[in-house]
Amino acid sequence: MTKIRTRYAPSPTGKMHVGNLRSALYEFLIAKHEGGSFMLRIEDTDQERYVEGAVDIIYRTLEKTGMVHDEGPDKDGGVGPYVQSERMKTGIYMKYAKELIDKGEAYYCFCDKERLASLKTEVVEGKEISIYDKHCLSLSKEEVEANLKAGKPFVIRQNNPTEGSTTFHDELYGDITVENAELDDMILIKSDGYPTYNFANVVDDHTMNITHVVRGNEYLSSSPKYTRLYEAFGWETPVYVHLPLITDENHKKLAKRSGHASFEDLLEQGFLAEAVVNYIALLGWSPEDNREIFTLDELIKEFDYHRISKSPAVFDIVKLRWMNGEYIKAMDFEAFYEMALPYIREVLHKELDFRKIAAMVKTRIEVFPDIKELIGFFDTLPEYDTAMYAHKKMKTTQETSLTVLKEVLPMLEAQEDYSNDALYQLLSAYVAEKEVKNGYVMWPIRTAVSGLQMTPAGATEIMEVLGKEETLSRIRKGIELLEHA
Ligand code: GLU
Repeated sequence: MTKIRTRYAPSPTGKMHVGNLRSALYEFLIAKHEGGSFMLRIEDTDQERYVEGAVDIIYRTLEKTGMVHDEGPDKDGGVGPYVQSERMKTGIYMKYAKELIDKGEAYYCFCDKERLASLKTEVVEGKEISIYDKHCLSLSKEEVEANLKAGKPFVIRQNNPTEGSTTFHDELYGDITVENAELDDMILIKSDGYPTYNFANVVDDHTMNITHVVRGNEYLSSSPKYTRLYEAFGWETPVYVHLPLITDENHKKLAKRSGHASFEDLLEQGFLAEAVVNYIALLGWSPEDNREIFTLDELIKEFDYHRISKSPAVFDIVKLRWMNGEYIKAMDFEAFYEMALPYIREVLHKELDFRKIAAMVKTRIEVFPDIKELIGFFDTLPEYDTAMYAHKKMKTTQETSLTVLKEVLPMLEAQEDYSNDALYQLLSAYVAEKEVKNGYVMWPIRTAVSGLQMTPAGATEIMEVLGKEETLSRIRKGIELLEHA
């Protein structure tokens, strides 16, 4: 068996869309699952869509996600160059285009804009495209040579038959047959001399020994034309895996405006790269059992591409948030603290024990920015309604709360040790003496020190972080509020 070789072939056009990342991930997993190699090729032949800095984004994403490529522009594996604009300089695309011309499978086309604009158009996948009428196919050899000599601008087009049909195989969609008459004579070499994606991907995948091609199913409709190219050259077609569409919650194609369509957006929103990778692996693929949490190494082990589904995958941000929360819970504390600190600093301007605060929130958040809502009360006591002191389950009312706060105040004033343990002991002794339930005492205290119904920690943990002075001031404030209630 030949060794599996896959490639990730991004165009440097901006951010890393979730769909592109999934293609990259599946290519990576398919190769690694079989001990094959994963190659990076930069497809920059569309000069108009080129975005400065986009190549860096590609490298950064591969690094952050752990998808280490075996070959690429920075790692020669003997089939380079790995950047299409550099490949073009070697003359490879022109050489193969001419080979097709010699075989009668392609031809020069000198039609100008005006003529092309007058052609019949057809709507394909929502886009209006003109169907070329093979006008230049009938030019004689001499006419072509005269035009070339005169420096007339030209493109090179594929010459598709007008009869018969073409069949290709996709691993998910099975055999697909189309009538050749439906195949447009697509451009292989553009007037600027660059190859089109359509031509370059075939030449490159073959000359770079790619065995499996994984990409979004928007390429499915062009695949018969690629197959015709492979056949014209007499090359073996790679295994095709066209992936299902990724949609948003409304079953519309996941678009930029959703706000979470790119890897960078998600990282900015406080998601962890590992969680995003894990989640994206499940956008169209599932293991045999219902397991959902996988490290990259576990994915490599489990990933069988035959289990990819054809149905559209819904990008569910709620599920991703949940998954991210699981990753945060499992994080090593020091690593968590380092990532949490900027969010804590954004909200808290006092000198407090940030490590303790981080430990409190670690199990209570889904994404890092969630931290901010949870800890604001440490900085300033929020305004609150005294009705909060009355809690049915704790059997407290505003009156019982006032009594408790008044009784514990002198104890807390006398207390020197404000560690959680010492405070807990002190208050437990009071609870025992009064023969009441814990909550009867702790609820009013926690309300007074936090002003909140829900807090990331218990009363004494909060008091430890606030310190004596701030704790006493908040208890006194509670008494004052209750006295005037
Ligand atoms: N450059 C193409 C893209 O970014 C690659 C498609 C493919 O994988 O063949 O969409």
